[in-house]
Amino acid sequence: MQNIQCEAIVLGVMDYGEADKIVTLFTLEHGKLKGLARSAKKSRKRFGGALEPFARLRLHLAMKVGLSTLNGADIVTIFPHIRQDLVKIGHAAYACELVERLVPEAEQNHRLFRLLAAYLDHLDQFQHDPSDRRFFEANLLKVVGYQPALSRCAACDADLAGALVLRWSPSSAGVLCGRCGKTGRPIASQTVALLNRAMDTGRFGLIRFSPTELEEAGELLNAAISCHLSRPLKSLAFLREIGV
Ligand SMILES: [Zn+2]
Repeated sequence: MQNIQCEAIVLGVMDYGEADKIVTLFTLEHGKLKGLARSAKKSRKRFGGALEPFARLRLHLAMKVGLSTLNGADIVTIFPHIRQDLVKIGHAAYACELVERLVPEAEQNHRLFRLLAAYLDHLDQFQHDPSDRRFFEANLLKVVGYQPALSRCAACDADLAGALVLRWSPSSAGVLCGRCGKTGRPIASQTVALLNRAMDTGRFGLIRFSPTELEEAGELLNAAISCHLSRPLKSLAFLREIGV
């Protein structure tokens, strides 16, 4: 067992037995891990209200393979403005569930930590904009190594620059040239260009999709994500329920 301090974002919390909680964390230093928070259920004072979904914390942990033990937690921010808005809560929960489901345990990924932290910061500070979700998804796929092919045909590797007709299919892992994608769904080259720019730009708020582009980008990204998930996301059902 190793006693460490680390930065973490709470991905999920569940009750464990009479008094304890198990917290799923995404840490900057050690990737995803699970921590046992003793007496956290019985006494809120023990962790001072820190163990809430998507809170950003500074943790004291006794690290162990499988299940670490939380010895203390200082709140960096609980993102108060997200918590006042159901749509923002839905998006924050979606982002955290995606990270929880797509990354293996104990695999450090600084870029993913920064991406998730930046999305939560942006959700907290600015009005909700559906482009931000697509920006997050495109960059998430990139930093976990599932980036869809957008610049070259996913089937024949032809350069797609200047191509007038672009298509994609849920099984193609990216965009197809006119020849390979005859039966695929059409996607405007402008939408593909925006997705490419989203993955080249590190900052939220710079890329804005029109309603049509949002729909096209959303279909492609939803398919690119769902092929890596063994079961549907709970948070996605919630987003649909609240009409987002
Ligand atoms: Zn092709």
